[in-house]
Amino acid sequence: MNLIFLGPPGAGKGTIAQRIVEDLGIIQISTGDLLRAAVKEGTELGLKAKEFMNSGKLVPDELVIGMLKERIKKDDCQDGFILDGFPRTIPQAEALDQTDIKIDKVVNFQVDDELVIHRITGRRTSKSTGKIFNIYKDCAPNPPEGHPEEDLLQRDDDNEEVVKKRLIQYREQTEPLISYYQDKDLLADVNAARELDQIVSDVKKAIQTST
Ligand code: AMP
Repeated sequence: MNLIFLGPPGAGKGTIAQRIVEDLGIIQISTGDLLRAAVKEGTELGLKAKEFMNSGKLVPDELVIGMLKERIKKDDCQDGFILDGFPRTIPQAEALDQTDIKIDKVVNFQVDDELVIHRITGRRTSKSTGKIFNIYKDCAPNPPEGHPEEDLLQRDDDNEEVVKKRLIQYREQTEPLISYYQDKDLLADVNAARELDQIVSDVKKAIQTST
């Protein structure tokens, strides 16, 4: 099963993907994670991407499309995957259509800007496991009791100023993908402003209707 998770930053795409990949026996491919790894390693792609990412802009299509095409060729993708954060533009979606990959469902995470900004400023990633946590009590999942604070990393682009720019990019460049996939009869809307367990259950239901 090949899925796309669509939605603004902070909608919970990565968190939900982490929760369901094991059950489904598929993997999560986050283009944001791949780009952050390239930045960390200082590769040519990373050097080109860094400035765009830190200023809340999208990385140019040709760079992201090339990176994604390389990634989906790997053996671990054979049983299926969740594309988390790709495509983010119409040309990216068209490039995906031109591959031999068949997409089974596009889950559209719906959440308003105010909640996005709140969630994102509290978001932390575990350095040791890559798991996503939130330090705000009203945002799941909280880090377990006694989790070392120094293990929790805040992304450079997870501050209010940059998030507002990322939201503008989302509206202008990514939101048109909703009707793109609606037209292909692949879209399933999910209310992503609910409790984490409820969203997980709604996403699972939305996916089941495609199998
Ligand atoms: P994310 O981790 O998905 O929030 O992505 C973090 C940043 O990586 C984004 O704000 C973009 O700068 C860049 N990025 C990730 N995925 C894409 C994509 N599909 N197209 C363009 N830029 C991307």
